[in-house]
Amino acid sequence: MVANPGLICFSHCDSKRVFCKNVPEKCPHCHLSLLDFTIEPFQIPYPCGSARHHPCSIAVRPSVGTFLNDYDVNSDLHIAIVNSKMNIVEFDRTGLRFNDYSKWTDCITLEVIPSSWESHWDKTLDVVSKEDKWNIDNYHSTVFNCFTFVLDFLNQLNFPQLKSVNKENLCEKFILPKIQEVIRYSKIYRQLNNNLYVILN
Ligand SMILES: [Zn+2]
Repeated sequence: MVANPGLICFSHCDSKRVFCKNVPEKCPHCHLSLLDFTIEPFQIPYPCGSARHHPCSIAVRPSVGTFLNDYDVNSDLHIAIVNSKMNIVEFDRTGLRFNDYSKWTDCITLEVIPSSWESHWDKTLDVVSKEDKWNIDNYHSTVFNCFTFVLDFLNQLNFPQLKSVNKENLCEKFILPKIQEVIRYSKIYRQLNNNLYVILN
């Protein structure tokens, strides 16, 4: 499980932004005592979290490893649906899998429907999950995989903004903006594994 690393950002001089885990006594850029700030230290919002805290969402994580430590733009993604009771349903090479919570602690979640759609979301997930086609024999790593399951669910959900969604526009419109946030965060996080500060313009 990956907890929020609690990265901090502040600004002192030259409009440089300083990223760190703990605020130092002296500015790492100008080396003066940190008596005041142009931007007071604040914790950067952590873009990942546990799927079980995000009812009625689409959850996405790297197929292998974590966003924070392992992900890069070429990594494969794995995707699942969470219902209003926090049940997580995913399709992989072992067939349909339910509530594998320990694997979904470091994911991004897309909350795409208003609360008035929640019971329809749950019912649709029940119906789709009972279909025979989600079995080991039908699984194929590129043409019949976790995305096939989620897209089939979204098609049956028939929510106006997600009508006729395909893998490309689901990724481009919904997943990519969140992934970019994750990449920015994890880049600084990984630099701070070897440095006390990261200074950016
Ligand atoms: Zn300074």
